[in-house]
Amino acid sequence: MPTTTKNRGSNKAERRAGPRKKSSSTIVGKEFNYVLHLDADDTLLLNRYRDVLAQGAAGFAETTYNYLFDNPDIADVMYAYERQGGNIGELVRGQLQHQLNLLNGDISEKATLRSEQVGRSHFQWGVKPVWSLGSYRLCFQHLKHLVVSDPQIAPEDRAPLEAALIKMVFRDLAITSEAYWRAAVDQLKEQRDELGLEQNLAGELLSHIPQMLWTVDIESNKISYASHGTRAFCGDRLEAPIPCFYRISGSERQRVLTAWQQVIDGEPVQLEIQVNTESDREGWYRLAFYPTANRRGRVLRVHCLMEDVTDSHTDRARLEQLSTQDEVTGLANRTLWYDRLGSALAVARRNPGASVAVMILDINQFKMYNDSLGNQAGDELLRQVGTRLQKVLRDTDTLSRLGGDEFGIVLPMVQDAEKAAARVARQVMDTLSAPFSYKGRDLCISSTIGISVYPQHGEDAHTLASHADSAMYRAKWNSAPYLFYEIESDASATEHLQLSGQLHGALEREEFELFYQPKIDLLSGKICGAEALLRWRHPQQGLVLPKRFIPVAEQLGMISPITDWVLDTALEQSKHWPANGQPMSISINVSARSFQSPGLVRRIEKALRKAGVEGCCLEVEITEDTLMADLEEGARILNSLNALGVSIAIDDFGTGYSSLSYLKRLPIDTIKIDQSFLEGMASNPKDVAIVRSIIELGHNLDCKVIAEGVEGETVRRQLQDLGCDLVQGFHISKPLPDAGFREWLSLSTH
Ligand code: C2E
Ligand code: MG
Ligand code: MG
Repeated sequence: MPTTTKNRGSNKAERRAGPRKKSSSTIVGKEFNYVLHLDADDTLLLNRYRDVLAQGAAGFAETTYNYLFDNPDIADVMYAYERQGGNIGELVRGQLQHQLNLLNGDISEKATLRSEQVGRSHFQWGVKPVWSLGSYRLCFQHLKHLVVSDPQIAPEDRAPLEAALIKMVFRDLAITSEAYWRAAVDQLKEQRDELGLEQNLAGELLSHIPQMLWTVDIESNKISYASHGTRAFCGDRLEAPIPCFYRISGSERQRVLTAWQQVIDGEPVQLEIQVNTESDREGWYRLAFYPTANRRGRVLRVHCLMEDVTDSHTDRARLEQLSTQDEVTGLANRTLWYDRLGSALAVARRNPGASVAVMILDINQFKMYNDSLGNQAGDELLRQVGTRLQKVLRDTDTLSRLGGDEFGIVLPMVQDAEKAAARVARQVMDTLSAPFSYKGRDLCISSTIGISVYPQHGEDAHTLASHADSAMYRAKWNSAPYLFYEIESDASATEHLQLSGQLHGALEREEFELFYQPKIDLLSGKICGAEALLRWRHPQQGLVLPKRFIPVAEQLGMISPITDWVLDTALEQSKHWPANGQPMSISINVSARSFQSPGLVRRIEKALRKAGVEGCCLEVEITEDTLMADLEEGARILNSLNALGVSIAIDDFGTGYSSLSYLKRLPIDTIKIDQSFLEGMASNPKDVAIVRSIIELGHNLDCKVIAEGVEGETVRRQLQDLGCDLVQGFHISKPLPDAGFREWLSLSTH
């Protein structure tokens, strides 16, 4: 074992062990002597036979050497020692000398110090105490052989000599091990002191900088660190994830919300926002979010920075005012739009009864096209959208591109603003519903519009714009094409923000569950399949329905792993259902983002293989809009699924935009009539006519037709008379959890 401290100042191990001056107090040898009953008699006896016992030291040296190099772990340490300039021969000799010294029976403090030094140098070189134990065992074996067999030792001395040797070996082993442990403690203490020093420095630094800094732990949605500046600005009631959210102007909250969603998706984000300061002055702040993710890309923490940039913002705003045109579309830009909105409001104020409608429009699939086809395609799409929008507006209306894929519309001096805005919204949806073309390719888009009206929803331009913005986000989450501003929407924005934080990790925490709803064949009355419907068992809110969290998951880019989980779970659970004589197919819902995500077909194929289930037992439900967003790609996916034997159903049929000529060419097996058409069937002949024509259309396309949301016997009978093939709804069964559904099945099949 290394006993030398050669090259001490220059090697890494020394640095690890820390400088000697900081070591704990010296080991007191007397205590060891006391507990081991080592005394002068032992020393005398050992001295008497020292030379006898020292015989054969050379042979023992060889044994020790072999022991050290036969053990790869120790050998590695030895070679490392050699690489750093140490001499192994000298080292082993030193170790032997140390063990021979035990034969002197020296139990003085000086000898204790020597052993202690050996223990410390073992720590420096990484020689574990367990290896020393082996070396002492060899040493003792060698000596014991001499004690019992050497004729020079008087028979009555053999037992006390062996006892004295045992005590010496124990003593040395204990002292070296304790010294090893103390060296380790010293090193830890030193590291802790260094860390404390660094922490103090960092704390000092942070308390002096004017920027606000805080860190949010995503899993618990709590603030784990807040700088002095943050507390001074936001007070001590720091609410996660953005402590002064209440101070952020209404108009800005949605933007912060979107930025937050981006950051928990793993992207660093920066934005400038308006914040009300203590003195009730509105200031501009730069807000920056930096995510820290684990190796699998899941964001664990977000570091946030906020700083006052009011001065530079004012300068920039002045410069921006000089230009009023959007470069991409040639439309008015944000500045001009606000300017026009301000003028329209000024006129309306002078005309009692007059109102102004403010509309903010966002293109739903823009990011997807921009990402997949490139910026050029994105710009071209924006130009074409601008041209079409302009055609549905009057000359006095102002259309502008506010940035990204957002357009703003001002309808000035309208008498019944709500009616006018709703009419324009419908015209906009209509004009955008026909496919756009880019390099011979058909691109389909839809839009979401938020509307606010002067004077009901606000008095000034910024409030109205921010309220239209928040209505637009609410419409997105509710999958509505357009919505008017409602006061409660601000509360729902905060809820959405919280939900998005909690949704992260819900899959890993196993908070999702599947419920199943049966599908019945109207002719035979038999159960022929079930639809898997996702639920989120929220730790505080209980069972959350998909309408509330699927749009959030889509926006956060989390939908694909969720779809994979639904697929695996539905296939696995459905295998254990009681058979009713005929194979039951299981349907899963695939939303737009999942459908468009690469590798869907491959993942379905893998899931089927993993579950050992045939493709014909699986049905994928997609909506018309999902399919029509990119017809070519959609057709490719459907054909691949068809090749796997997987059936395809068009969900919520009749509520979206369909190209009938395309439906004819696609391998669609089932059409699901949306529930909204069934509601009026009992009383409204028009609804009956619509349902009849959907059934006829479905049959002409060679598809089965299923009506979903059947709540009563009258409607079920009407559907049967109209020739509908299948029904699904509360009338048959509500969606049930796996165990409940299994029980329902076994009761229904008997
Ligand atoms: P959907 O695919 O059209 O599913 C039918 C919805 O109607 C279900 O709502 C179901 O509980 C409800 N329903 C069934 N029968 C009746 C009835 O007789 N009366 C009434 N009033 N409602 C009935 P749920 O479970 O809340 O799901 C809503 C939507 O969420 C689904 O509409 C589907 O679009 C989506 N969704 C559900 N599970 C998943 C999933 O795993 N992945 C994705 N991407 N979307 C899902
Ligand atoms: Mg469905
Ligand atoms: Mg549906």
